[in-house]
Amino acid sequence: MTRLDQIKAAECKLLLSTYERNPILFVGGEGVHIIDEQGERYLDLLSGIGVNALGYSHPAIVEAIAKQSRALIHTSNLFFHEGQAELAMRLTERTGLDRVFFANTGTEAWEGALKLARAHAGLLRSEGKTIGTKFLALEQSFHGRTFGSVATTYKAKYREPFDPVMPGVEFVRFNDVADLRAKFSNEVCAILVEAIQGEGGVRPLTQDFFAEARALASSTGALLVVDEIQAGMGRTGKWCAYQHYGIQPDVTTLAKPLAGGLPLGAILCTEEAARAIRAGMHGTTFGGGPLACAVGIAVIDTMEKQGLLAHATEVGDYFQSQLRALATRHEVIIDVRGKGLMIAAELDSAELAKLTVAEMLKRHILINCTSETVLRFLPPYILERTHVDTGIAALDEIFTEHGAAFSGTHTAYAAGGN
Ligand SMILES: *Cc1c(COP(=O)(O)O)cnc(C)c1O
Repeated sequence: MTRLDQIKAAECKLLLSTYERNPILFVGGEGVHIIDEQGERYLDLLSGIGVNALGYSHPAIVEAIAKQSRALIHTSNLFFHEGQAELAMRLTERTGLDRVFFANTGTEAWEGALKLARAHAGLLRSEGKTIGTKFLALEQSFHGRTFGSVATTYKAKYREPFDPVMPGVEFVRFNDVADLRAKFSNEVCAILVEAIQGEGGVRPLTQDFFAEARALASSTGALLVVDEIQAGMGRTGKWCAYQHYGIQPDVTTLAKPLAGGLPLGAILCTEEAARAIRAGMHGTTFGGGPLACAVGIAVIDTMEKQGLLAHATEVGDYFQSQLRALATRHEVIIDVRGKGLMIAAELDSAELAKLTVAEMLKRHILINCTSETVLRFLPPYILERTHVDTGIAALDEIFTEHGAAFSGTHTAYAAGGN
């Protein structure tokens, strides 16, 4: 029995069966490559679902962890430490928001943002305003796995096994301004969006829809809450994806790449929204600990030192242009979209998408498939053009070999109604 087989058997017996893992045992990594127990290197175009922004074993992260872990790992939020204000200063300067609450994960940040929106509406009511408690979320949204998060997540399979989830959520058709207008009223305490939907298939909001959401929320005092957990922290070439639109939210949430691989989440909000929170109303034991904050600071400082925002834009544009060139040769690719290093190639067949991920893995390249037919690329920000070329060559080979078997399935697929 190999080491992998032993682990597989043990997990099968001991863990909740939540995951269908790929049969690879990773033990290390370097730059954009992750390394398995045989020493085989894999080009990582997924970076642990958008987490490992600086790749693997980046000296700045290794050093920050070593230094901070020698000094202090945890204090609880009963006491001060040096990291939170330092990191909050960097985040507020770069996002145009005023205040920060640190959590551990994406879903925890999102739950906090929902609570903040409810508390803010409560405060407005106490000041004589008419505003309700309802949330508007978007179709195809994904906001995490805890109760409030699944309640605001569109796909029924994430919610229904756990019903009843948090009530008071209505879903608006994606980018449908008329539907948004029809569903908005002073019953709504917050409009919830991702500037670019991640799990929903790397789908950006239109300028019109985003601007309308901003205007409607402002008209009643409701909050515009933008989930930047996947798109934020530089992935799209700006600190937050909403900055591409010139639209400022009242609240945003960050997590995945925030501490370069350590768990850390954050809620950022305006001074106005922050009025709703008083001492004791919300909290966390681990959130914003010294170790995660030290690494978060190192990530931001390194991104600036290495010019990684501009780099993500440049390499991301190159990646998209190469995918578009590929699409002219393989009609199975029906759309290429994204911003910076948050990129999708949509195929005309779910089966081919699944096969492509598996074939890429055989060629030692990690990508994934979201929303059935969408190949998703979330590489580390340190990706270079040569890595893009490697990925494109592999896709070219796969579509040449397997594309024909699937071409034409698009019509059958569409006629089948999803
Ligand atoms: C991943 C993700 C979440 C949830 O984050 P977790 O850390 O897995 O809880 C929420 N929103 C978006 C947009 C995400 O991509």
